[in-house]
Order: sequence, then structure tokens, then C-alpha cells
Amino acid sequence: NALSFFSNSTSHTLAAQQSDVAQRMTMEAELRQALVDNAFFLEYQPIFQGDEHHMQSVEALIRWRRASGEVVRPDIFIPIAEQSALIVNIGRWVLRQACHDLAHLHRAGFSDLQMHVNMAAPEFTSTDLPDELSVVLDEFGIATHHLCLELTEGMLMHQPDKVIPVMRALRELGVGISLDDFGVGYSSLARLKRLPISSIKIDRSFVHGLPDLTEDRAIVRAMIELGRHMNLSVIAEGVETEEQLTFLRQHGCSLIQGFILSRPVPLDVLIASYNPLE
Ligand code: C2E
Ligand code: MG
Ligand code: MG
Ligand code: MG
Repeated sequence: NALSFFSNSTSHTLAAQQSDVAQRMTMEAELRQALVDNAFFLEYQPIFQGDEHHMQSVEALIRWRRASGEVVRPDIFIPIAEQSALIVNIGRWVLRQACHDLAHLHRAGFSDLQMHVNMAAPEFTSTDLPDELSVVLDEFGIATHHLCLELTEGMLMHQPDKVIPVMRALRELGVGISLDDFGVGYSSLARLKRLPISSIKIDRSFVHGLPDLTEDRAIVRAMIELGRHMNLSVIAEGVETEEQLTFLRQHGCSLIQGFILSRPVPLDVLIASYNPLE
């Protein structure tokens, strides 16, 4: 299975490497079939602003339901999909489904809700993303500012001279761009300064130690300040406790995502759980 693929990949025997390749190819084939079978689905996790009643955005998170009924998490299959062109097809499916569901949410009364969609590097480099996006947004009648794409620093290391111009074109369209897992990559501040982004998401590894750990306190406060001075929205991810929530709010981080407020849920549960007027 996929887990043994990851643990095996550190061993160096030829047999182990061959079995890694075989397992990866098996999963690739399964993922290709999953697209045909419509076996992917999205869950949505709210991002709340200010107090827990105002849902500002939701993040679309992909899951894969195997024929056995087992639900597979993206951390297992997205890295495999990223090794082939499959990720582009999966990403396109996610974008369409998320826009479809966002239009539904807008009609259900969540009229100013924004949708966050995670992207992989090949989606930025191997297709005309701004063009394809415009078509999908038009089809579902969604304004560009209601979409925000999340990308990681790792993606930017990959092919910055290809990715950054696409980011810029998307920003010019009015699409939001959020730097996901902020702080765990290797971006220098010099690079951050030049990135056409609209928000940063503080990685949950820094939120984890709040409010007790001195280092996490210092890092999170610095990130919030940085965001404020660079005119970027700051979202804290992975917020699990009241104490973390209190610390973040006291220090001016008003956008909160985490299990303490809501886990990722299916669309119908999301709609049933919140009052659009709040
Ligand atoms: P991410 O974009 O950083 O998403 C946040 C992850 O943290 C999600 O895991 C979410 O369920 C989890 N999370 C949220 N709140 C909490 C919390 O309070 N505590 C803890 N421990 N975890 C929390 P998930 O859904 O398993 O997704 C994992 C990663 O897979 C995502 O990390 C993202 O990088 C990737 N991913 C998910 N959906 C897609 C997609 O459609 N396309 C691409 N390319 N990647 C995706
Ligand atoms: Mg994300
Ligand atoms: Mg993240
Ligand atoms: Mg992540």
C-alpha cells in the first residue's frame, strides 16, 4: 500500500526500489480509474473570520473512496499523482467541482463566501491556467475574487520563472493566491517580497505550540506582523484548542481554520450546520 511505499523509499536495495516503482504504478493506475469512476469527492473546511459565526471562506479538500469503501487521504495519493500528468486531470476535476459547489453555496444564501482550492505545481506550468479558470468561473457565474488558490513554497522552488508569471496573471484577474503551509518551506523573505500573493496560511506546526512554547509564540507573532505590514491576510491553520484561538485573536489573527471550529465536512453537512445570515 501507499504507506509502505513511503517507508520503503528510504531503503536502498534494488528489490525494494523495484517494489516501490511497482506500487507507485499500481496506485497511478487506480487513480486514473478513480477519475473515470468518479471516486473522488470533496470535503469543505470553513475558515472563520472574527468570531466563529462568520464563515469567510471554505477550503476544498479532496478524498478518494476506494471500491472497498475505504476513504484515502490526499497526503497518501496526491504525492503519487504529482509524479505524473494525472495531477493535472485531478486538479481540473477539483476546480470544477469546487466551483460547482460554490455556486450552490451562493444560491443557498452564503452569498459572499470564498472558495480556497489547493493547487499542485504542474497545474501552473502545464496548462493555460488563467484561461481555463476564466472559462470555469464564467460557466458557474462566479466572480474571480470568490476564488483563492493555495500553493506551497515548495511549488515555487520548482520552476519559479514559470510559476510566478502565472500567479501574477491570476492576481490581475482578481483571483486570490494564498501561500499554504507558510514557514515550513525555504522561501527567503526576499523572495516573499516579490511574490504576487494575497494571503499567507500559518502552518499548523507553529500553531501547535501555542500559547506555551516561546519559539512558536515568537514565530506566529512575527508572521502576523509580517502579513499586516505586507498587506496580506493571515490565516492560521490547524487551530485545535481554545488557548490557541485566544492567543491568535489577541495578536490580531482573525482568520481561523481548525478542528476547534470545524472539521472538513461534506457540502450538505456544511449547509445544514451554518446560518448564511451570520
Ligand atoms: P493543506 O492544504 O495544508 O490542508 C490542511 C490539512 O490540515 C487538511 O488535511 C485538513 O483536514 C487538516 N486540518 C485542518 N484543521 C486541522 C486541525 O485543527 N488539526 C489537524 N491536525 N489537522 C487539521 P487533508 O484534508 O488530509 O489534506 C492534506 C493535504 O493534502 C492538504 O494540506 C493539501 O496540501 C493536500 N490537498 C488536499 N486537497 C487537495 C487538492 O484538491 N489538490 C491538491 N493538489 N492537494 C490537495
Ligand atoms: Mg491548503
Ligand atoms: Mg496547509
Ligand atoms: Mg499541507
